[in-house]
Amino acid sequence: SYRKGGYHAVRVGDQFAGGRYVAQRKLGWGQFSTVWLAYDTTTSAYVALKIQKSAAQFVQAALHEISVLSSIADGAPSNSKFVVQLIDQFKHTGPNGQHQCMVLEFLGDSLLRLVKYNRYKGLPLNKVREICQCILIGLDYLHREHGIIHTDLKLENVLLVSTIDPAKDPVRSGVSPILERPEGNVNGAVTSLIEKKLKRRARRAVAKISGQRASMGGMGESPKSERRNIHGIDVRCKVVDFGNACWADNPFAEEIQTRQYRAPEVILQAGYSLSVDMWSFACIAFELATGDMLFTPKVGQGFSEDEDHLALMMELLGKMPRKIATTGAKSKDFFDRHGDLKRIRRLKFWPLNKLLIERYMFSESDALEFSEFLVPLLDFAPEKRPTAQQCLQHAWLAGNDSVPSEMTNETSVENVDAGISNLKIRVGK
Ligand code: ATP
Ligand code: MG
Ligand code: MG
Repeated sequence: SYRKGGYHAVRVGDQFAGGRYVAQRKLGWGQFSTVWLAYDTTTSAYVALKIQKSAAQFVQAALHEISVLSSIADGAPSNSKFVVQLIDQFKHTGPNGQHQCMVLEFLGDSLLRLVKYNRYKGLPLNKVREICQCILIGLDYLHREHGIIHTDLKLENVLLVSTIDPAKDPVRSGVSPILERPEGNVNGAVTSLIEKKLKRRARRAVAKISGQRASMGGMGESPKSERRNIHGIDVRCKVVDFGNACWADNPFAEEIQTRQYRAPEVILQAGYSLSVDMWSFACIAFELATGDMLFTPKVGQGFSEDEDHLALMMELLGKMPRKIATTGAKSKDFFDRHGDLKRIRRLKFWPLNKLLIERYMFSESDALEFSEFLVPLLDFAPEKRPTAQQCLQHAWLAGNDSVPSEMTNETSVENVDAGISNLKIRVGK
């Protein structure tokens, strides 16, 4: 891929935008780009430098992503705290062509890594609540202020944030956004002393998070000191990767979302809107709490991945109403005129509440409360799903019966700061 039209090869110390940005180490890569940690000599801060492949379609995609990101950045800055910020953009010419570059705020590891790091056991419910709250505030901002559908919400696309700038105070910062990778840092070209210290910190912080699922999931109480440790970590995160985002009034792609997070109306090609993000959000919340994906459809003998996906949904949520099942452009591929699947006949109903108790050892009350939060988001009728704003009012996010209801109601985009401090108060109890 490092050829004409492809990636731009970067070496540590390379300069960009007339010397303003200096490459430090590779953070990651995707189908479209490589992303580097860079030092911004103008602001003396670290940034993430996303360098797109140079072929025309990649330039086009980058310009789209920039247009979405800059419209998000145009909003009130306090409201956009839960989505990644675009700092700058420029073109860089190299041996492989002209690369559109994006300068983004530097964030930490993804939620996927957090879950992996916790050995797929699921995070303590208090942590899940904190993360859900961040994502919902971000979504509420995107949906209500901008009418933007993210269309690709998943664990990889939510990155952790450190509340303290690691560049300014690397040693004293309590939680590093960089988690130690169990499989080793494959990208790390240079690991500085500061970074090692950060990692040691992160290891300790993560060690505190690990192994908490059992204590929070109804398998008995955890010792008090342990609980204090979990609550000491202020999990914050931001939604990233707007390469596939679109405006709700102009949805351009028919097939959106990563398979496991895909809403039923997308599979059926029945049209979609903002509520597809709410479906993916519910999948994320479940995965954070259990360590397993909610739906993992597979091709089988005589049926497609799509049909298996629909079957899994109905096994969890009950039969899809006939009217919804039969009105998509692709409905006939899967459903007969009675609204039954054509090739998968016997469904084993296993509702979410029972699944959480029987497979994930949730206590009855945890399971009930969590499924009361999730099931409405998984409504087959997209227009019936709660909005991000409505979700933020849900009792489950309060997570504590003793919290007065007026406190939970304060959490809204109008008052993000209050929302977050409420979160700390509630979760930290
Ligand atoms: P995709 O194929 O997923 O669309 P892409 O080429 O559009 O990939 P991104 O997903 O935006 O690229 O970024 C690639 C990787 O770089 C991410 O998975 C993440 O590890 C890292 N990364 C991206 N943005 C940031 C950021 N702001 N801070 C830190 N790391 C980042
Ligand atoms: Mg990505
Ligand atoms: Mg992308």
